[in-house]
Amino acid sequence: MKPINVGLIGLGTVGRGTWEVLHRNADEIQRRAGRAIRVSQVAVRNVERARSLVGGEARVTGDAFEVVRAPDVEIVAELIGGTDPAKALVLEAIARGKHVVTANKALLALHGNEIFAAAQKHGVMVAFEASVAGGIPIIKALREGLAANRIEWIAGIINGTSNFILTEMRDKGLAFDEALKDAQARGYAEADPTFDIEGVDAAHKLTILSALAFGIPMQFERCYREGIRGLARADLGYAEALGYRIKLLGIARRARSGIELRVHPTLVPARRLIANVEGAMNAILVKGDAVGVTLYYGAGAGGQPTASAVVADLVDVTRLITADPEHRVPHLAFQPDRLSADPVLPIGEVESSYYLRLRVLDKPGVLAEVTRILADSAISIEAMVQKEPGEGESRVDIVMLTHLALEKNVDRATARIEHLDSVEGRVTRIRLESLL
Ligand code: NAP
Repeated sequence: MKPINVGLIGLGTVGRGTWEVLHRNADEIQRRAGRAIRVSQVAVRNVERARSLVGGEARVTGDAFEVVRAPDVEIVAELIGGTDPAKALVLEAIARGKHVVTANKALLALHGNEIFAAAQKHGVMVAFEASVAGGIPIIKALREGLAANRIEWIAGIINGTSNFILTEMRDKGLAFDEALKDAQARGYAEADPTFDIEGVDAAHKLTILSALAFGIPMQFERCYREGIRGLARADLGYAEALGYRIKLLGIARRARSGIELRVHPTLVPARRLIANVEGAMNAILVKGDAVGVTLYYGAGAGGQPTASAVVADLVDVTRLITADPEHRVPHLAFQPDRLSADPVLPIGEVESSYYLRLRVLDKPGVLAEVTRILADSAISIEAMVQKEPGEGESRVDIVMLTHLALEKNVDRATARIEHLDSVEGRVTRIRLESLL
């Protein structure tokens, strides 16, 4: 069969990796796909630089819309990122009957509902394995491998930059700002690291995973998020002493009254495999009712790992291009006319265990006051550590782990505790998950 023609938009970290993998493994890829996969056109901003890489093998243009309009291009690989002009490019490609492969989690989390509806209408595929956790085939696992299961929850380390920073803080005893500088110096964090450290990037990915797991529409705006900027070294130390590690987790869970969708620092028992995922690596736990807990681990970013996912999608699309759209796996795992209306819960209605740290005056009666306030809000304590005051110090840290409690009750109790004269400053509060 004649080769299938791909239009590659973007030749940066992921685009270049894709170009390289397609060339290096051309023979294996052709044996798997049934036809050769060939890049016929490339779009970038810096045309000269791209020409030096692709030589005469593909046309190079500075206008990405040329690629989506080229009659010979059958699959458009959108690898530029952001929403403008990525959204317009993807929608135009779909409208012209072209299939799309994208690594763009921001685009899908924000505009996925519109994009998948357009793809459905035009009978084309939009494949997005690279959009979550780079090279880890988690989309394939949720869409196909776990199709028998009612998914109960997903919990993932899905932002390598923040995991790298937390690892540095723990291993080297660095403060957050020092660890961030280190991550930037080593190329793990962007000059503007906001999306990574504030949990936005993880929330984009979790939004996509929640749609696949529960058959709900993408609802990025309802995803609760809290980043790692406020974490203190002391809390990593106390967590460690209590047998926990702190990770930035994206958690999507089916609860009694709806779906929990949240990204925040989380204490995880140190003996769990996911607690030992270090540096820039990613890992995702999925609990299905039939299979139990499964764990997916690997490189969540980087040119070649992400290209592994992009090229797998190109192979998938090539294989299925002649299949009747009715016989393809639905984009978001569930048939689009069978989506669930389960609501995403506001964070106040979420139940979790908590790590609480407060700094108090070292005098009798303080602890009794604090535990009474907690009991009034139906919060029971599972473990407690009170540090001895240092030489000449009149204040001590009290660290408590709670049983399951409703977030709104914890809000109320911590506000009351912070009003006590014997308590200094804010109560540090980090959610805790046993991940069983
Ligand atoms: P990148 O290194 O910044 O590369 C972006 C590429 O897009 C560059 O080649 C740039 O051209 C080109 N480009 C940007 N705007 C364009 C426009 N308007 N028209 C034509 N070309 C344009 O980005 P990346 O890291 O490869 O990321 C690409 C996508 O993959 C993003 O959605 C990202 O979230 C996702 N992703 C990245 C990774 C990773 O490890 N980097 C992992 C998973 C997913 P010039 O080179 O000429 O400037």
